[in-house]
Amino acid sequence: MLIRNAEVDGQIMDVRTNGKIITEIAPHLEGVADIDGKGGALLPGLHDHHIHLNATAAAMNSMRCGPPEVMTEDDLIKALDQPGEGFLRGVGYHHSVAGEINRDWLDANGPDRPVRIQHRSGRLWILNSRAMDELGIKEPKDGRLYDSDHIIRRSGFPDLTPLIKRLRSYGIVGVTEVTPSNGIAEFENYLEQAGDLNLSIMGKAELTGVSHPRRGHLKLHYHDHDLPALADLARVIGTAHDAGRAIAAHCVTRAELMMTLAAIEKAGPIDRDRIEHAAIADEAAIEWMQRLGVIVVTQPNFIAERRAAYLKDVPEADHPHLWRLKSFLGAGLPLAAGSDAPFGDPNPWAAMAAAVKRPKGFEAESITPEEALALYTKPAEDAGGEPRRVAVGEPADLILLDRGWDEARKDLGEVKMVSFTS
Ligand SMILES: [Zn+2]
Repeated sequence: MLIRNAEVDGQIMDVRTNGKIITEIAPHLEGVADIDGKGGALLPGLHDHHIHLNATAAAMNSMRCGPPEVMTEDDLIKALDQPGEGFLRGVGYHHSVAGEINRDWLDANGPDRPVRIQHRSGRLWILNSRAMDELGIKEPKDGRLYDSDHIIRRSGFPDLTPLIKRLRSYGIVGVTEVTPSNGIAEFENYLEQAGDLNLSIMGKAELTGVSHPRRGHLKLHYHDHDLPALADLARVIGTAHDAGRAIAAHCVTRAELMMTLAAIEKAGPIDRDRIEHAAIADEAAIEWMQRLGVIVVTQPNFIAERRAAYLKDVPEADHPHLWRLKSFLGAGLPLAAGSDAPFGDPNPWAAMAAAVKRPKGFEAESITPEEALALYTKPAEDAGGEPRRVAVGEPADLILLDRGWDEARKDLGEVKMVSFTS
């Protein structure tokens, strides 16, 4: 594969790969170009360091099936026209749309995949024949199941294909899956469905014994109202560390962060322990994190997405401590970023733009476009490592932008990918 006229570290270069790694970079390489980069920046593919794949896919695979979006039978047929594999889930159905629809109606008018539609009341699910097969049920014949969430829950994992396609359209080549409840079944499902997406899969203690390059951190998720005793938390962390597994702890509030840092200190930190979010961090917390050598994985998108709520709900004295970037980098904390989708927008370019141009009232923690990009180019397994580079011998997981870096850095939110397969 030969890419001609692409910008590498500020210079126009030709780049050759053997499909797996970059083999040559020079101002001119012999051979027929597979792609003309037209001066666009060539970068390492992006990594979302904090995402919940199944929940994001489930949300994407859910169709609104009632008012105000869907008003008529025709609207409903159009809404359901989503070919694909795996369950299609509809929500919010109301009989004003197309009457008391049933299995036969769905078989005749829906797509050729398992479909289940929830009535607005929440009590009724309407299934097509493929959905009933998938769930192993033959009754009721009309496919209208009342109060049967226990059966519906058997429907397994959502189809990740549309989500992965969307992530790839942003230039994402890898993700860290961080759902605390991930066990063996989830781990195997991600491996099976993710294709060549570079994964690191966090999860519960059940995964600690799994010896696999994609097995990630022990994910700890406690809330203010049910924080464990310090000694208990330290013991959980210590057990993971003894098995050579680093931990990643959800820390949104000050109390969660303080408790977690105390427990890590008690257990003794190991390389690659992570603090997820660190949404509120004052100078003392920064100093403590620095001392423990933990990696922080933040979400630059939230300050833009939730600004109004923060202004209303977070005391003004804490505004300087919210979703910090510049202070973390200034303190030398290893920092990376992820979307936290489905809770945040999975588009990393919108998040980078928000990191560079923070909303009014939160500008002090803005960082440069180069620093923002680097939050998404750390290695999959080491969010605190050096950003990956476009260089000979490096993996050919490249992305090509539709413009040079000087243009791109003016507004990262406008950047588009040029699609190609390296
Ligand atoms: Zn999360």
